[in-house]
This record gives sequence, structure tokens and C-alpha cells, in this order.
Amino acid sequence: MQYRNYPLALFVFLALTGLAILSVSLVRAPEALPATAPATQFSAERAMTHVRRVAKEPHAMGTKAHAEVRGYLLAQLQQLGLGAEVQEATVAAEPGYVAQAGYVYNIVGRLKGSGNGKAVLLMAHYDSQPNTPGAADDATGVAAMLETARALKQGAQLQNDVILLMTDGEEYGLYGARAFLRHPWAKDVGMIVNLEARGNSGPSMTFEISPENGWVIEEFAKAAPYPIANSLAYEVYRNLPNDTDFTVFRKEGYTGVNSAFIDGFVNYHKLTDSPENLDRNSLQHHGSNMLALARHFGNISLVNTKAPDKVFFNPAGTLLVQYPAWFNYILVALAALLLVLVLRAGLRKQALTIAQVLGGFGLYVVMLAIVAGLFVPINTFVTSLLPYWHQHNGVYSSDAFFMAYLLLAIGLFMLLSWLVLRWLRLFSVVTGVFLLWFVLLLVVLFLVPSVAYLFLFPLLFSLAATLAILRGGLHLQQKVGWTYGLILLTGLLPAIFIVLPIVKLLFTVFALQMPVAMVVMLVLVLGLAVPLLVLLERSFSWRMLPLLPLLLVLAGCIQVYSAIESETPSAKKPLHSHVSYYLNTDTKQAVWASAFKTTDDWNKQFFPNPVTAPLTEIYPTASYGFLKNEAEPLALQAPVAELVNETTVSGKRRLQLKLQSPRGAAHFELMLQTQDSTGISSVALNGEVLSLQPIEKDGKSYYHIRVQGLPVSKEVMLEVEQPLNTPLNLLLYDQSIGLPQQLVQKAMPAYVVPEQGRDSNLTIVRKGYSF
Ligand SMILES: [Zn+2]
Repeated sequence: MQYRNYPLALFVFLALTGLAILSVSLVRAPEALPATAPATQFSAERAMTHVRRVAKEPHAMGTKAHAEVRGYLLAQLQQLGLGAEVQEATVAAEPGYVAQAGYVYNIVGRLKGSGNGKAVLLMAHYDSQPNTPGAADDATGVAAMLETARALKQGAQLQNDVILLMTDGEEYGLYGARAFLRHPWAKDVGMIVNLEARGNSGPSMTFEISPENGWVIEEFAKAAPYPIANSLAYEVYRNLPNDTDFTVFRKEGYTGVNSAFIDGFVNYHKLTDSPENLDRNSLQHHGSNMLALARHFGNISLVNTKAPDKVFFNPAGTLLVQYPAWFNYILVALAALLLVLVLRAGLRKQALTIAQVLGGFGLYVVMLAIVAGLFVPINTFVTSLLPYWHQHNGVYSSDAFFMAYLLLAIGLFMLLSWLVLRWLRLFSVVTGVFLLWFVLLLVVLFLVPSVAYLFLFPLLFSLAATLAILRGGLHLQQKVGWTYGLILLTGLLPAIFIVLPIVKLLFTVFALQMPVAMVVMLVLVLGLAVPLLVLLERSFSWRMLPLLPLLLVLAGCIQVYSAIESETPSAKKPLHSHVSYYLNTDTKQAVWASAFKTTDDWNKQFFPNPVTAPLTEIYPTASYGFLKNEAEPLALQAPVAELVNETTVSGKRRLQLKLQSPRGAAHFELMLQTQDSTGISSVALNGEVLSLQPIEKDGKSYYHIRVQGLPVSKEVMLEVEQPLNTPLNLLLYDQSIGLPQQLVQKAMPAYVVPEQGRDSNLTIVRKGYSF
């Protein structure tokens, strides 16, 4: 068949590009509503007032700013007449290598309903990470709750109560969510709506849903005006370890949904997560959904909220379809039937031979491996050119890199298929592609049945289109025609609308950390598109040269170059710098330490003679290598441990100590050690018992404990039970956020921000005690 048909090729090119752009751009947040929007609606502009106030500055637990934010939120809830109160508690985190506990101030309020059924719980956390104002994470969540509560009060009274829970200490150990499980209102909760962020723009995606989701998905689809959710995210998240407030409740068997926006990941937990940089549309998306869900679940019975899992996904934009999981099996049987029919028609019409189909299958797997494999060195090369790139931080121009990798991957795949089609007939390759898709479909169906949709619909439509072409003999025409092109294009629609947004999503999630995931998914779609790609390649070739694939690769290279250029640090795209100050008041030793192995323009002032080694002068059990340099020991006030009481209880010494931070630090760290080999038998903080795991070092057992978010009084009570007639050794550290400014000679310029995390940009002071 003659594939050169310029008008058709031009049309196909425009249609493919247009549909691809449309499919990705439909998955977006709604326009932000202005402050003048009707009072019963959710307005992002109105909610922004709260975001600006909450995210004025970093407000990690234990800081003054944190207490101020709490005061503001309490006043707002009281103004709404929701009888707000504070739940204070010391809570242990999930047991781990280091025992952790946090002191939380949860804020709770309650909007009374007309009935006495179960309540709807709206939830978001009001604390931030230490080095970010946390506008998206999670000021948007609490702001959305306040604006939702305001709008609810404007409408008719709901049947069910609505509980507002602004949790504390999410960033350090999900402490607030754990604490609320002990609150008397916890047993009233029938449905949870939680809001989160892992970036500062993009659509709000409902990624985490409680198990046995049949009921909740059905109601969610009815109620949410802009639902974005799929079984893929549901399955991924239910197998991930505990990492959001919602997970704490999910594990306790509560029903609910958790939504987050994740574009702009580079700003996550950074100083650039500011109100100015926040995407208002994301806030609108969060809020429009939360308000609608509160109204919907506020007026239905929340007694039977579990039903067998459903399959659900967005076939286009925010359209959400859902069907019972068993229906997948019927669709898979249909796919198998179509595959057999395609084979039969292909053999009869001499479009393929069995040997060629198997060859197509094998070569397609090889092409997939080559294109994906090439992106390992490509990505290593690209990241080596980035200024100050730290793998876990993402890139500012994520979309530009996505575009670049997309062009490169399509160009490379087309070049390979150009080669392969010199040996194999087109529909043999296509049928080989179907065979691989079908194998993948069976594997997914076997492992995670509810994710089969991702492979089912693209395969079904492509098979149907190919069958129509083979039976109609369209592949035997002298010259490629419009019917042929249009049938293939129609067959490709589910691949474009269902899978391409997932390709984009994979890049948003992993970016340059793991672009291969996105490439594999993309090549799978390209496999189904081979007949159309061939049509384009042949129409736009010159002599025997595949001009179009070469142009795509060239465009990809130019795009990579411009994306790298745009990563140059500036005030808008600051580089991330890691450094903390450690002081040992016992030895009068101080060090600067950075978790990054190389310095940058700004933090090199602290590292004139750096070495890479564990921080053993500060922590006796340290093992992780830090870049460190001697520092000037300042005369900072050391944390204080004071023996308040000592008793003997069933043959053990029970000591009661008061720990204080005179310099008003936010957190404590403790290393407990006793000479006796039987060790410490129990430790409690403010009455909360911690589970302990000793760390063995140099023949001694140490117990490492973190206490996060000191109460306003800056003191906590520690109770230790240990053997008689042996001293208890305590290394006490207090951690304040920020560096000692008297030692910073060159102030941090606008193009530098502190690296995220809980060991960056800290001043840590240690003092040893023996009791
Ligand atoms: Zn968060």
C-alpha cells in the first residue's frame, strides 16, 4: 500500500497532537471563584484570606508562629459559632528505630445537624514543615475547611453533624490524627474528607480511598462536582506505608476520601510554597469538592458505608465512571475474542503470518526495552548538567522536561519502528503489539484486577478498529484512504484519553527521579498508534530518510537544552542549601554539617575545610556521613534536665525528670544510656509510654528518642525505669529552627532557600547529665 497521502497525514498529525493536548489539559482544576461569588458557594478568593494569614511564615510545631496560627484558626471557628476547642496531648508515633513522640494542639469544632446520625469529619493539618510557609501544604486545607464551614452555615441545616478537625504535627509523625482517635468525638465519625498537597498547583486528585470502596465511590461520584480518581491510585496507596493523616483513620477502619494536588512538586516543603506561588484553581478544586461532599454526606445515612470494591477512572477530564469489578472479566473475554478475530481476519486477508506476528511481538518488546533503556543514560546526562540538582527535590520546569522527554521518546520509537518495518509487515507488528497488551492485561487482571481498566479499553478499541480494517480489506487499497485513517484514529481514542493523562501523571510524580516509568507507559500507547505513525513517517519522509522522527529527536534535544537553561537559580527558582549548626556544651565543640556532599555558592562559607564523616562528636551512635566543618562554639544556653522525684518500684529505679529548653527551642532529642546490661525497662513522656529499641554501639546500649513540638511552657516530664545501683546517663539536645545568625557572615541571598526536612537549617545544642 502507498502510504503517502499529504492531506490525510496533515489531518492525522493535527488530530493526534490536538487530542493528546486536550486529554491532558482536561484533567485540570476549575477556575477560582472571586470573593463576590454567591455566599452559598465556595470561593477560592475568600479562602485565600486564610491562606495568607496561616502561611505568612513557617509554622512548624513548637514554634511561636505555630501558636499564632492556632490562635487565628481558633478565633475563626469561634466567629463561625462552631464552639471551637483545643485538644492537647502527647502522642507516640508508630514504633521505629528511633522512638518519637509529639506534643499536639488539635483544633476541633462542630456544626450541629438536625438529626442524631453519624457525623462527617472534615480534616486538614495546620502545622507546616520547618522551612516552608506551607501555603499549599496545608494552609489550603484548613482555609478550605473554614470557607466550607462558612458556606454550610449559609444553607439549610444538614441532617448530620459536621466535625472540623485541624490536626497538628502531621509533618513530624501524624501526631494530631493519632491524638484525635482518643477524642470522644472520634466514635461519632461516619465519613472523612481530608485535604492535602504534595506540590502547589494542578488538579485536586482523590488518590486515597478507604477499602471496600463500592459505597463511597458511588456517593463520591454523585456528589463531587470535579471528581478525579482512579482504581490505580487507590491500589497503589492502599499498599503504601502510613504517610498521611487519613491513613491513620483508614487503618482504623474509617470510611473516607483523601485528596491532594501534586503539580509544582519542587515547591513542596520549601520556602517557595508561599501564598503568592499558590495556584488558586487548586484551592478552588479542593474547596468545591469539599463543600459538595459535606452537603451530600451531611444529608445521607452514614451507617452502612462499606461495599465491595468498584473499578473507577476518568475516561476524559473529570468525568468519572465506575462499575463492579466482576464486569472486567466479561470485557477481558471480549478482548480475547476480538484478538482471535483479528488474527483470523489477518491470516485470511494475508495481512499477517503467525511467524511475523511472533516476530512483531518480540521486536516490540525489544523496542520497548531499547527506548526505556536509553532514558537511563539520557537522564543521567541531563541531571549531570543541572545546577545543584538534588534528586528528591524535583525541577522547576517539570513540564518543559516532560515535553522534551516526550519528543525524544516518540522520535526514538518512530526511528525503531521504521527499521522494524523493513523486515515485517505492518499488521504483523500491530498484532504483536496487541499480543503484548493482552499479556499485560492478564498479568494486571491477576495481580490487581481493578487496575485492568487501564489496559482494557485502549486494547478493545484498537482491536475493533483493526478488525474493521482487515475485514473491510482497507489495508489492501492502492493508496491509504480517509476511512482507514479515521477508523484507526477512533480506535486510539481510549489510549489517548485514559492512558496519556497517566503518562503525564507518572512524570509529575517521578520527574527526573525515574522518567523510565513515564517512557514505558508512553511506548505502550505508541505501540497501538504504529499504523498512524507509519502513515505520518512515510508521508513526511524525504528520499528514503525518515524526516519526521529525526525532527522530533532534534526538537527533543533543543527542548532539553532550554529546560536545563531555565533551571539556573534565581529568586523565583532558588537553589536548595543544606546546613545546620551543632554545639556540644560538654566538650565546647561545635560543627557545621550538611547532608549534601557538595557545597553551593552560599553554604561554602561554613565549609572552608570540610570532611565527610558521621557526626560522632554530637551523637555517639551516628553512622550517616555528613559534610562537616569545625565551627565556633557559641555560649548558647543548654537544655536543662532536673530530677524531680525518685522512687523504687518492684526492684527498679523510677526517675522522674523535668526537661526544659531555656532558649525556647521547638524540639528535644534524647540519648538514654545505662551501664547495666538489662537496660532501661520503660520510658514515658508526659505519661505517654514509648516503645524502645536499643541501639548498640561500642558495647553500650543507647535509646534514641525524639520529642517534637514542645508545649508552650517549653518543658516536658520524662519518666524512666531502670536497674538499681547504676546511674542513668542522658544526653539532652534541644533543636531550634534557624542558624545562629551571629555566625552567618554572608546572609542568604534571594536565590537560595534552606533545603526541606527536619535536619536542615537547625541549631542543635547538646548537654550531658547523669542521675
Ligand atoms: Zn501535608
